[in-house]
Amino acid sequence: MITESTVGTGPRILVVDDNPANVDLLVRRLARDGYCVHSLYTAVDLENEVDRIDPDLVLLDWMMPDRSGLDALVGLRTVRDSNRLPVIMVTALGEGDSVALAIEAGANDYVTKPIDFPVLRSRLNGALVRRMGVLEADTQNVELEAVVAKRTADLQRANTRLQSEVAERVKAESRANRLARTDALTQLPNRLHFTERLKTLSGRSSAEFEPFSLIQVDIDRFRAINGVHGTQTGDAVLCEVAKRLQTAMPSGELIARTAADEFSVLLPASAGSGPDAGLKIRGALADAFDIGGRRIVVSTAIAVTHSGPVPCDGDELLLECDAALQHVKQAGGGGLCQFDERMELAVRANLALKRELTDGLARKEFVPFFQPIVDFSTGEVSGAEVLARWRNPTRGTLNAAEFVQAVEETGLVDELFWAILPSACAQALKASPTATVAVNLSPSQVLDQWFPQKVLKVLTETGFPAARLEIEMTETALFSDIKTTKVALEGLRTQGVHIALDDFGVGYSSLSLLRELPISKVKIDRSFVSGILNDVAAAAMVRGIIDLCQTLGFQTTAEGIEEAAVARQLAEWGCTFGQGYWLGMPAADLVLTSPWLQHANRKVA
Ligand code: C2E
Ligand code: CA
Ligand code: CA
Repeated sequence: MITESTVGTGPRILVVDDNPANVDLLVRRLARDGYCVHSLYTAVDLENEVDRIDPDLVLLDWMMPDRSGLDALVGLRTVRDSNRLPVIMVTALGEGDSVALAIEAGANDYVTKPIDFPVLRSRLNGALVRRMGVLEADTQNVELEAVVAKRTADLQRANTRLQSEVAERVKAESRANRLARTDALTQLPNRLHFTERLKTLSGRSSAEFEPFSLIQVDIDRFRAINGVHGTQTGDAVLCEVAKRLQTAMPSGELIARTAADEFSVLLPASAGSGPDAGLKIRGALADAFDIGGRRIVVSTAIAVTHSGPVPCDGDELLLECDAALQHVKQAGGGGLCQFDERMELAVRANLALKRELTDGLARKEFVPFFQPIVDFSTGEVSGAEVLARWRNPTRGTLNAAEFVQAVEETGLVDELFWAILPSACAQALKASPTATVAVNLSPSQVLDQWFPQKVLKVLTETGFPAARLEIEMTETALFSDIKTTKVALEGLRTQGVHIALDDFGVGYSSLSLLRELPISKVKIDRSFVSGILNDVAAAAMVRGIIDLCQTLGFQTTAEGIEEAAVARQLAEWGCTFGQGYWLGMPAADLVLTSPWLQHANRKVA
């Protein structure tokens, strides 16, 4: 009698039946179908046997003496669920409501005795197919869970990395932020930090506003310290000034280095009065500095201004402080000045003027005036200098001296230039076939790389010959960026435009440097010219410049000639051209006559 057939390679079936004949029959038939069949004659230890045999399906007899099929089924279901281990109950017909009980207890299906094998085969197959589906789903779930777990781990790792990167970046940003607001040399807050703080303090709401003082400390002639002792010593002086300021001012205020040789202090009213703080600072900086054994005395200009009791404009406070500082500087430096009402009026007037400039330019209120330039060799007016005039509807006609600085400070100087040049050229063209026109150029303009092209465009449009145009520029322009300036000037020179050096004598007066640039004329500043008859030094200087220029091949123009005797003297010394109120006032029209010719003729006669 065969009680077990484990040779089949198909699914593993466990047959549990107390009747050996039934078992034998089932084993045979199922083995023939290819199943791997195990059998038990009792269900007593079914849970453990199932563990041992690990069947794919159990065929369980309903009626058994030691342990009923139903009891065994209930026990089995506590360890194995119906999806993963299907149980088919084998019941005898007439065993009451056994089927309903079995299904309720967790049986998957049933067959009745005597067993109809095609039915059994079909139910076995159905149960096994369903189980297979469940197991496949299990495997997929396991795989899916593994993928999800891996992804989650990856994400967690990426997240950790990201968090540490974010933390690094925040750290780097705050470091960069700190560096951007710190002066590298003194480690004090820098100008950026200072202006931000000033804006915050001045712009607070009325309820939160606390009055404060703004104090600026400017080292007099700092360039000389650098020049005489070297930049290293200069740097050490700045660090020492920073230290003394910090010691002199109680903590809580902002002390910043706001320019190369300028420090600024913001002092809340609760921490003391501005003038007192200014005096304290002056005292702190009065003692000589000992820099590497060298004794250096530092003179400082200190300016103080106060916010007033209500929120204010930080920029205006800066202007006020600047005005007070200029006041000290003009008096020779080394002093303390508090911004006062008089200065306030000047600052307000300047602000008002600046506000009007844009409108004035838009309304074309700026016009060229022409001041004749006399050629001493012929006695005739050879051309004119173009001087800007502002026909202001309320203020009247303003001289350039009254507004040019404001124009420069507002960044409108280039606009002014292009507003004047075309009409100057057009007027000169109408007035004379040969007269030259000299226009003033601001230092900032030569740094515009398109400047020469723009000039040439105006010349083309007006038909004014390049050779009749002269550009006057001061030395400051030359020194700000010598390379760019040289390129611009050479560009103009090759087109035939002449370049003159304005206000010679008051700046660096470096003729050797001028030889590098395509300059053909030097204008001697009127501060020397006016004194040549009674100031020996001025006379020597003017004569020296004329001689030197002759040697180097530059023409000369003496500015500010207010009397005949001065003109005569200059002509005698060999000065090429003359300009001044006596030779001709600046006027709206280009006047081609001058008293000089008549005067010279009379002298000759
Ligand atoms: P600058 O180039 O030295 O021009 C000469 C200034 O001296 C002119 O003043 C002129 O009116 C004045 N002046 C002429 N002859 C005499 C004299 O015999 N005695 C005295 N005391 N003064 C005399 P202005 O027109 O007020 O110009 C002042 C400065 O403004 C000019 O000095 C020039 O640097 C600048 N400027 C004038 N027009 C322009 C312009 O269109 N653009 C730019 N960027 N600057 C200009
Ligand atoms: Ca000039
Ligand atoms: Ca001049």
